[in-house]
Amino acid sequence: MTALIVHGGAWAIPDNEVTAHRTGCAAALEAGWAVLEAGGSALEAVEAAVRVLENDPTFDAGVGSFLNAAGEVELDAAMMDGSTMLAGAVAAVQHIRHPITLARRVLDSDYILLVGAGAERFAEEQGVELCASDDLVVERERQRWAAQRAKPDFRGRDAFHTAHDTVGAVALDAHGNLAAATSTGGIPNKLPGRVGDSPLIGSGLYADNETGGCSTTGWGESIMKVVLAKTVTDRLRDGEHPLDAAKVGIEYLGRRVNGLGGCIVLDRAGRVGWAHNTPRMAFGYRTHDTPPVIAIDQAELA
Ligand code: ASP
Repeated sequence: MTALIVHGGAWAIPDNEVTAHRTGCAAALEAGWAVLEAGGSALEAVEAAVRVLENDPTFDAGVGSFLNAAGEVELDAAMMDGSTMLAGAVAAVQHIRHPITLARRVLDSDYILLVGAGAERFAEEQGVELCASDDLVVERERQRWAAQRAKPDFRGRDAFHTAHDTVGAVALDAHGNLAAATSTGGIPNKLPGRVGDSPLIGSGLYADNETGGCSTTGWGESIMKVVLAKTVTDRLRDGEHPLDAAKVGIEYLGRRVNGLGGCIVLDRAGRVGWAHNTPRMAFGYRTHDTPPVIAIDQAELA
């Protein structure tokens, strides 16, 4: 039994960006699925899927990420293995082409979370691909940055109406192992050093073979308060359907902390779930008995 679900952010994705979001999610799904089909692990599958999304400038991860207030890209990423409960994360890193691969190296080390310059030094030691800051910056984001500098009262929550494209994946492999991964450039115009939910185990992602896996996206300052990924996966323990668990988690996020976001979920039986309280969320999934599905609106599949 195998299953894979990916997402490319939850916000008011405008009509003219729908195709790019669909195409990106479809490519990520294909890359991750190829790994699972070849007998690869869930961890390998989520890494492969997220690398595709980090390469795609459509999304706020890797190339194309939002710029911080200093006009620089700072990236957060994490992954978790539900069989071993090992986790690896990096936060506020620069010059890293694929932060999810660096997170994977951290997962294989004695540590869970490395930040800033130390994480970059670790990347060098590990032979993880480095890049120049500018290699991750696209013109669209230079323009967004310039426009936001002109609006000093811009707040993080406002970003969810303009743009929000963190990426993530959750997989179940043929051995029954679950893994989850999340990667992001954070929110536009964030203070340098700001870290959101995405690299935090339990908030931006979670995976446990005893329950399920989840990757989240949305306003990090709200997601962290409700530890969203753990809140959602805990509900799977007694057999709740992932669609219901996701719905309850997102409802709690909205009601309790006025939060905004979305999540994708798999349980240990490979059943899929998702929910968002933003106007749209880009996601796609495939299982051993379901052909690829790519969606932008919850209403499309509800
Ligand atoms: N959750 C991410 C953050 O707050 C952003 C996103 O999901 O797009 O950093």
